[in-house]
Amino acid sequence: MAALTEIFGREEMTKHLREAIVREKVSHAYIFSGEPGTGKKTVAKTFAQTMLCEGIDKHMHKIGDAKQELAYACGVCDSCRKAIEGVHPDIIFIERQKDKSNISVEEIREKLINDAMVKPYKGSYKVYIVKEAQELSVEAQSALLKTLEEPPEYVVVILLVTSPDMLLHTIRSRAEQIEVPVLSDEIVERFLRDAKEDDSSVTEDDIRFAVTFAEGKIGRGMAYLDNSNFGELKKDVMNVVLNIKNMSIPEMTKCIRKAEEYKDVFLDYYFELMTLWYRDVLLFESTRDANGVVFKDHITDISRQAQVISYEGLENITEAIQKAKQRISANVSFDIAMELLLTSICENVQG
Ligand SMILES: [Zn+2]
Repeated sequence: MAALTEIFGREEMTKHLREAIVREKVSHAYIFSGEPGTGKKTVAKTFAQTMLCEGIDKHMHKIGDAKQELAYACGVCDSCRKAIEGVHPDIIFIERQKDKSNISVEEIREKLINDAMVKPYKGSYKVYIVKEAQELSVEAQSALLKTLEEPPEYVVVILLVTSPDMLLHTIRSRAEQIEVPVLSDEIVERFLRDAKEDDSSVTEDDIRFAVTFAEGKIGRGMAYLDNSNFGELKKDVMNVVLNIKNMSIPEMTKCIRKAEEYKDVFLDYYFELMTLWYRDVLLFESTRDANGVVFKDHITDISRQAQVISYEGLENITEAIQKAKQRISANVSFDIAMELLLTSICENVQG
């Protein structure tokens, strides 16, 4: 667990949070912002765990001439164990229900505003972590504002959001804003290796691919390694990019049906993998160097495609992938959006 809490690679940010705990200067509201997969949730969970740890460990750090005392969770006390298992009664997660379009005011009243009136089960904090806080309805944000203006002393609300602009100005002005930055490939790799140490099914190749795919976001790398569907998804994407030019109409339709299976959860990854493929082709076409290529095991195919797709063609294809994504999220028929994409790929491959 120590590794998980210490591998943040964001010293500035974690020092600030650890120091706030020691000095008892924890704010009542935080906005943790950063791209999806940057690890906002992990940072929030570790912060909450450290706040509530019963055996808190304080380390002195010398920074310049000043000494700074920082708090670290022990990882073994009852509170830490519950926090790690995700069953701590004073760490409450709030997220949009699957069948709802947003986090409604009723929900925020029940799970946060009213719940916050009840004192912590144990310890001096009660931490509410709102995932995808941009999904809070405007009414829910307004209702939440009252709690943020006059919070019970033990309440800490952490809103996780891609960008702070997605929240009402009044909420932003009440909260301390913390930007969770993306990580270097090296740190992502260390983290993924550590997390998958005991999993013999994860190969060197998987780790390498996951690190590139992660683009500094641990969550994405973990999603790749954790999901057994990913292998299948990768295979389906490969089938399209390698064979589309020679496919019959029924074969194309089969590809579309396959892609549709990912519609609810993994469609973004489907398009991202596809984009990554064409980025590899572009990279190889311009550098003739296999080093930066992600799909290393397909270098022969990449080199062949680099000869039959022009720079302009690659640009067109990348745009077509973006367009397909937008069309599908705008509820254009899935089949039409995909047909247009596949046609565009075919048109831009010469020969
Ligand atoms: Zn502890």
